[in-house]
Amino acid sequence: MKSFETLGLSKGLVESVLQIGFETPTPIQEKAIPVLLNGNRDFVGLAQTGTGKTAAFGLPLLELVDDKSRDTQALVLAPTRELGLQIANDLENFSEKFKSFNIVAVYGGSSISEQIRKVKKGAQIIVATPGRLIDLIDRKAINLKTIKYIVLDEADEMLNMGFKDDLDKILSFTPEDKATWLFSATMPREVRSIMKNYMSDPFELTVGEQNTGNVNIEHHYVIIQDKDRYLALKRILDYNPDIFGLIFCRTRIDTQKIAEMLMKDGYNADALHGDLTQQQRDRVMLKFRQRSLQILVATDVAARGIDVEDISHVIHLNIPDEMEFYTHRSGRTARAGKKGVSIAMISKRELGKVKQIEKTLKSPFKRMTIPTGAEVCQKQLLAFMHKVNEVKVNEDEIAEFLPAIEAELKSLTKQELIKRFASLEFNRFFDYYRNAPDLNVEGRRGASEGGEDRHSSSGARFFINLGKMDGIDVSKLIEVIDDASGLGKSDIGRIDLKGAYSFFEVDTEKADQILKGFSGIEYKGRQVRVEVTEQKEFGSRSRSSSSSSRDNNRGGGGGRSSGRSSGGGSRSRSSSSDQKKKWR
Ligand code: AMP
Repeated sequence: MKSFETLGLSKGLVESVLQIGFETPTPIQEKAIPVLLNGNRDFVGLAQTGTGKTAAFGLPLLELVDDKSRDTQALVLAPTRELGLQIANDLENFSEKFKSFNIVAVYGGSSISEQIRKVKKGAQIIVATPGRLIDLIDRKAINLKTIKYIVLDEADEMLNMGFKDDLDKILSFTPEDKATWLFSATMPREVRSIMKNYMSDPFELTVGEQNTGNVNIEHHYVIIQDKDRYLALKRILDYNPDIFGLIFCRTRIDTQKIAEMLMKDGYNADALHGDLTQQQRDRVMLKFRQRSLQILVATDVAARGIDVEDISHVIHLNIPDEMEFYTHRSGRTARAGKKGVSIAMISKRELGKVKQIEKTLKSPFKRMTIPTGAEVCQKQLLAFMHKVNEVKVNEDEIAEFLPAIEAELKSLTKQELIKRFASLEFNRFFDYYRNAPDLNVEGRRGASEGGEDRHSSSGARFFINLGKMDGIDVSKLIEVIDDASGLGKSDIGRIDLKGAYSFFEVDTEKADQILKGFSGIEYKGRQVRVEVTEQKEFGSRSRSSSSSSRDNNRGGGGGRSSGRSSGGGSRSRSSSSDQKKKWR
């Protein structure tokens, strides 16, 4: 593996980069930097977002641009204000120990006169969104005749957003002999035509296979009914208590509505879309970056290009109409070599779209089922108990209160204490999820197609509170079931072992034998709990179909002690029926 020193960069610049924490170049940096340092060749870099493109073009720019001259020598164009600011900020950081540049970001939604003032002071590097740059050109506030390097970052996005005419106009104001560096995650026809019209014999670099998605993203999908979209979203959120996630909606109205519903239901969520003022958007982004906001609900345009570290999940409340949108949405996670999960919520008729993305990205999608109420509760409880285990106790502060606490609780055994403690935190949660309906849609893919397929249509599925953490493996679980109920290996269908719990299936008619058999059974001194999770099979007996209205009318899981109000759970609007067929 190469180091930054061997790529031909100056010592000061290498030091800056190392200080930021970049130890080794990413693949695109390793390949692009030596080429771009030559300075006179047009360049096309085809790489996914999050691969380190900014430093790949930024470091050579900082080498090549003369800080002693006040002429504007480099122009970087980016599709959104967010991305533009990020790039300008990165360039500032990279150059800190190297040269003294005046780097100016020019973008809409902020005082144009202030930006003009900064440009007029002599900015060697300008980072701009196309629309605002056109404003500056029209006001004759900017001279592009001295430009030597122009970077078109996320070119596919700029074209998607309708900046084609603006780009044409901007490029016509720059000198013929400049070098043009174009970066794009995808290579649609429109990008090819920019290359053809404005570049000569570009050096073309593809990092990873063309159109191959970031391998660090796990792509999942869930099939739900349109009416259950919001409930299913809450289940997913509740099943991932430590989520730091981005939820994409198609329209501004949906975005605002879903964010409001989540907030009302006690989630730490907020909205980002174009109907907000710039100040409101900045405030939301700041909260999200600082992680004081856990869930950001956004439109494609507003969240395009944002680089927030460690986003764990991207959830597509609706699968987008355009392939590029899916790439850009999911590219907000798994950045800088980290792992991430992308979950597309689809209706059954949208399976074709998933197949198409799968084919284009050459990344398999895994079918995921919406967690059951029992699974969510188990997961939340364990996550909470894990936090209890990990919490840092401030011995000095708590010491003076301990005697009183101990006196109050002295009659409770450890086990009772744990139970009460858990109940205090989770009773609302249990109430909400008790009898919650299965939100999965039938017609799952068979095992041969891969993906998860937990429920069998003819069998009953059971939850058992024993799992790998109890030393249970498949044969041990069969033994436990046999001991309790007398049902043997041939009666037991699919077994799904999890950490602290498991699932198993038996024929519907043998379900009672299981439930009776396990009544009062203990395993290693612990009460064994077995419950039916597949309600369809037992709807007439214990799980009534009225559970669906329960799920609708309660506040939702999560936010255990957040004083969540009730009455959330209304449905998100579904517009899948009027989706335009724009798949390439
Ligand atoms: P970019 O594609 O330029 O938006 O970069 C994606 C993320 O990777 C950003 O958070 C960068 O700070 C980070 N990054 C870029 N290059 C490196 C590197 N060589 N080592 C570690 N992190 C990097």
